[in-house]
Amino acid sequence: MSGSGAGKRLILMGPPGGGKGTQAKRLQERLGIVHLSTGDMLRAAVAAGTAVGKQAKAVMDAGKLVSDEILVAMIAERTAKEDCAKGFILDGFPRTLPQAEALDKLLAEKGQKLDKVIEVTVPDARLIERITGRFTCAKCGEGYHDKFKQPRVAGVCDVCGSKEFIRRADDTVETVSARLKAYHAQTAPLLPYYRAKGLLEQIDGDRDMNAVTIDLERVLT
Ligand code: ADP
Ligand code: ADP
Ligand code: ZN
Repeated sequence: MSGSGAGKRLILMGPPGGGKGTQAKRLQERLGIVHLSTGDMLRAAVAAGTAVGKQAKAVMDAGKLVSDEILVAMIAERTAKEDCAKGFILDGFPRTLPQAEALDKLLAEKGQKLDKVIEVTVPDARLIERITGRFTCAKCGEGYHDKFKQPRVAGVCDVCGSKEFIRRADDTVETVSARLKAYHAQTAPLLPYYRAKGLLEQIDGDRDMNAVTIDLERVLT
C-alpha cells in the first residue's frame, strides 16, 4: 500500500463472521503493523488453561462477552509491547462503550490516538453461513471456509502445508444468535461514538473478499 496517509492505529469493527480477521491479516502484511485479535488471545488463554482462560471459556461458548476488566487489562498489556510501537490493527476490541473509553484513556496516557475505525458491514442473514463454514489451519492460523475459501489442494493448508484444521467451539448455529444479539446490543453503540469523533469509515463487507480488501485499501490510502 502506498501513501503517507495510511493510518497507524486502526480498529476493524463488524459483526461476528463479518470478515474482520480475514481482512486484518491482509492489512497487517501491507501496512507492516501487528494484528491484535482479542478472540485469538482469549482462545490462546483457554488453550493454555490460564486463570483468564478458565473464566472466559464458558462465556465464550455461550456467545456472550467476557468482562471489560479482563479485556482492558489484556489490551493494555499487549499494546505496551514493542511490536505495537509502529501501530496496530485491533480486531474484536473494543466491543463495549467502557472498553472504548478505556482504550481512549490508555492511548491518551501515551500521547497517542486512533487514526481510523472501519466498520465492515454484513447483513445478519449472511453471517450464519460465514460462521458455520469457518475453519482454520491448526498450525499457522490461516482462515478458510467450506464454501468461500477452500484450500487449493483439498485437506492441505495453502500457506504452511499442514493437514490439520480446527473449528471453533463457538462457531455453531446455536451460538451465532447470541453473538449477533451481543453485537447489536453492546457493540453497535460504538459506531455513533466513533462517528462523532470523525473516525468512522464504513465499507460493504457483503462482497467477494478481494473486493472488500480493495475498498479497505482505498479508505486507508
Ligand atoms: P468473532 O469472530 O465472532 O468476531 P472473536 O474471535 O472476535 O469472534 O471473539 C470470540 C469471543 O471472544 C466472543 O464471542 C467473546 O465471547 C470473546 N471476546 C472477544 N473479544 C472480546 C471483547 N473485546 N470483549 C468481550 N468479549 C470478547
Ligand atoms: P470475523 O473475524 O469477522 O469473525 P472471519 O474473517 O473469520 O470473520 O470470516 C468468517 C468466515 O467467512 C471465514 O471462514 C472466512 O474465510 C469467510 N469470509 C471472510 N470474508 C468473506 C467474504 N468477503 N466472502 C465470503 N466469505 C468470507
Ligand atoms: Zn497453515
